[in-house]
Amino acid sequence: MKFRFPSPDHRLLDAHCHGVLSQDLADAEFESLTAERRLPPGPGWSPMDSPVGLAIRRWCAPVLDLPTHAPAKEYLQRRRELGFAETNRRLIGAASLQAMLVDTGFGDDLATPHELAALAGAPAYEVLRLETVAESLRDEVTATEFPERFEAALDAAGPDVVAFKSVLAYRFGFDIAGEPPTRDVVVGAVREWQRVETRLTDPVILRFIIWTALSRKPFRGKRRPVQLHTGFGDTDLDLHRANPILLTGLIRSAQQVDGAPIVLLHCYPYHREAAYLAAVYPGVHVDIGLAVGHLGASAGNLMREVMELAPFGKLHYSSDAYGLAEFFLVGAMGFRLGLDAILDDWVGGGAVAAGDARAIAERVLSGNSRALYPLRDIEFGADQSPS
Ligand SMILES: [Zn+2]
Repeated sequence: MKFRFPSPDHRLLDAHCHGVLSQDLADAEFESLTAERRLPPGPGWSPMDSPVGLAIRRWCAPVLDLPTHAPAKEYLQRRRELGFAETNRRLIGAASLQAMLVDTGFGDDLATPHELAALAGAPAYEVLRLETVAESLRDEVTATEFPERFEAALDAAGPDVVAFKSVLAYRFGFDIAGEPPTRDVVVGAVREWQRVETRLTDPVILRFIIWTALSRKPFRGKRRPVQLHTGFGDTDLDLHRANPILLTGLIRSAQQVDGAPIVLLHCYPYHREAAYLAAVYPGVHVDIGLAVGHLGASAGNLMREVMELAPFGKLHYSSDAYGLAEFFLVGAMGFRLGLDAILDDWVGGGAVAAGDARAIAERVLSGNSRALYPLRDIEFGADQSPS
């Protein structure tokens, strides 16, 4: 009997995303936002001529009333005809989300969590970016005050903040010491930072802010998880220093002190390392957002490799959508279909019973994130449960 999991109807919990741009975009602006890089594409090549470009034409074109696979030029023209407000509303709505966790620490002119919630018809929570908090304190406090003021800033996070996030991978890399730095060393590093440039790249302070986040008290009965960008990103990143396996020392130390959960975001091409870390360390979770959108038709391969080893209770969905509403939909569809294909094979091959496969899918699509993040319970009544 062929297994059919009804995943296209299943509402997803998007555990890491950003705002979308609330303005109409020129073709070049749109195209540059489809690629994870900061350099121009080069002559004769469009970023839409890529796996993610095909995924946009496949999944988003019909939502804008075009045939599936409509050419990129027609797609962009239709997008302009509809205008950004209608385009964003249709595409984010079509992603069929249960809730969103929005990283508000990067980018200008993006829709706020409140505006995203209205577009999605689902609650939006906030992810607080640690480096942004530290940078906002840099010129406000003395070096001696900095450690306590940073702790106080995290403790003052509002009720919508359900996770912290670090971009250590961008600012230094994961080849750092595993233990928390001493207070004196942190104060010395802050003093030096205040003498030079504003951007936070000092490995001692970066370690300090992660350890501070890992050691906060529970909120709504849970520790706020610390999300870490790992694996691929734009050209501001040295990819070989963003392999989460380099964080083994920090992860091991965090387990010993019962720190908050760590969520490894994105992970590609180190998703197998991330799955291994989630398998062996109780406090580590894996979230392959961003990669599922960018890999387009190959998203299923990525998920198959993650699911070789990652425990089913520690795998999460996110889109890492940024700027373009298209990423909410291509991420959601890539993830749903990839999961569906794997479970279909497993049930067909006798590896898992259909009922167990449905239970795994429910957890991976939304249940694991509802269990992990301190969301408000009230918003997940019977009408929002997955079908
Ligand atoms: Zn992100």
